[in-house]
Amino acid sequence: MAGNKVVKILDVLSTIYQGGAYPGRNSEGLNPEWPCDPFHVLVATILSQRTKDDNTRKASDNLFHRYPTLEELAEADPDELSVLIRPAGFPNQKAKAIVGCCRIIRDQYGGEVPSETEEMVKLPMVGRKTAACVRSYAMCIPSVCVDTHVHRISNLMGLVDTKDPEATEFALMAITPEERWSDINRYLVRHGQEICLPNHPRCGKCPVSDMCRYNLEHQQETKRCAGSSSTTGP
Ligand code: SF4
Repeated sequence: MAGNKVVKILDVLSTIYQGGAYPGRNSEGLNPEWPCDPFHVLVATILSQRTKDDNTRKASDNLFHRYPTLEELAEADPDELSVLIRPAGFPNQKAKAIVGCCRIIRDQYGGEVPSETEEMVKLPMVGRKTAACVRSYAMCIPSVCVDTHVHRISNLMGLVDTKDPEATEFALMAITPEERWSDINRYLVRHGQEICLPNHPRCGKCPVSDMCRYNLEHQQETKRCAGSSSTTGP
């Protein structure tokens, strides 16, 4: 039942958010300057951690102009890199992790980003969310990439009842056909940026409000309040 609901929601959202989302790219998911390959997506996704998309874009541009390939980045000095990626925040930590990732991929994986989640999460600053993002956007492997928007909106809508993103990932996988897993991040992130905003969801403008638990409960609450004020009013 919930699975059918997920599919219906994705179908509706896909009609309004064509292009989806991708860390470090514009809201249409398009930036023809950098290829959407595992190396670029991995680096951009690490840069995107704990910062806004605009900052990720600036840092990605600085970095990829100076180091366009994994091999060049593997030889980079983390101190120099940290200056280039400063707009993304946590520059020392991210620079060290990015150079570390590139060296491991070059030395242990023949220069190819591994495709298995279990292998990817061994890389510095790569967790399940980053791994799923790379698999979805750069490898076309169905994956549920759960960021704060996906976790928040899935719970608001009543698709899942979970406390943390990892539980949300597994719960969404269980109720969604595998071929739609990657659509979850693609469309819920855009929805969270444009309509279901973190502190003030614009439910009146939401095309999936009729399937949203938060909205339906909120409407019932409003009706209850209106009913009680009319019976107790003058
Ligand atoms: S109805 Fe409101 S809370 Fe529900 S998904 Fe839409 S904007 Fe978010």
